[in-house]
Amino acid sequence: MRSGREDPADAMDAPAVEAALTRAAHAIAGSSSVALACHVNPDGDALGSMLALHHALLRAGWESVASFPTPFEVATHYRELPGLDLLAPPSAFPAEPDVMVTFDCGALGRLGDLEPAAKAAGELVVLDHHVSNTRFGTINVIDPSSAATGVLVRRLMERLALPLDRDSAVCLYAALVCDTGRFQYETTTAEVFDLASELVTFDVPVPRLSRALFEEHRFAYLQLLGEALTRAVLVPDLRFVWTAIRQSDLHRFGVSIDEVEGLVDVLRRTAEAEVTCVLKEEADGSIRVSLRSLGAVDVRRIAQVEGGGGHRFAAGFTSLDGVEATVARVQAALGAL
Ligand code: AMP
Ligand code: MN
Ligand code: MN
Repeated sequence: MRSGREDPADAMDAPAVEAALTRAAHAIAGSSSVALACHVNPDGDALGSMLALHHALLRAGWESVASFPTPFEVATHYRELPGLDLLAPPSAFPAEPDVMVTFDCGALGRLGDLEPAAKAAGELVVLDHHVSNTRFGTINVIDPSSAATGVLVRRLMERLALPLDRDSAVCLYAALVCDTGRFQYETTTAEVFDLASELVTFDVPVPRLSRALFEEHRFAYLQLLGEALTRAVLVPDLRFVWTAIRQSDLHRFGVSIDEVEGLVDVLRRTAEAEVTCVLKEEADGSIRVSLRSLGAVDVRRIAQVEGGGGHRFAAGFTSLDGVEATVARVQAALGAL
């Protein structure tokens, strides 16, 4: 357990981030081959930020390998991200990379079966914006004020004099639009709009990307969504709403667990709730928990106590205790705040 300072990244002010970016650029510039990895069950920021740098490095002549931990499957709503075919399975990842870069990954454990490679890397550059980041790299570029890890990738590309091109721009746009909730969350600053504006000059297919990322679902998923909303539980006293998706639901509707990622964003529309929780049962019986807050409650604190992490507004953790016990603990934590 870490103790003492609760927010390890708090101390990393703007000049410290600048200095770390410079060190990261030097490490990458000093090696002809680089290994890139993002967190397990990658989201739009994890995939988009990693693929953007992968494209830029490959184009500039680097040897670059990009991967993410087992299960090596990309959720279908990320299908419009260019370069998914350039990803290598974790089995093809170098065991002892000279320089390794991680993306959107708050802790070593989030690298799954790529964790040994990270430990063996000559230089480990950690690019992230989670305040809960444990700083497991030799060079830590942690900026919680960045809306997405993709923002840090753009800054790193500038340091390396790597020009943007269409594929990098589409990937960075996906990172931005996913982590800002389509430019709706608090993180949506002028800097975010400036970057988005720069990116869309590169022929980003905004409507097609938006539909794939957020709008389009198989009918089977919509029916499962209906069921999950019908049996959702509102706890007015705690301003808390939750629902669970079990393996039996996934089987009955013929839906994969990755398709359910956006369900929490529907449930969090509940006017009576400050905090929203969706619990998803994995095939091995473990429970993947997603927490969302409107801001009055810092859900990262709840997730961190459970061994997870995230942000004030969006956090998560994995539980081995089943749905009922896990949601009871979340409610107890909320009640104790
Ligand atoms: P999700 O609910 O899966 O979309 O995750 C919301 C936020 O919490 C993201 O920023 C994740 O990086 C973080 N998060 C989710 N699960 C975990 C976990 N098991 N450990 C650490 N951070 C997590
Ligand atoms: Mn992420
Ligand atoms: Mn992110």
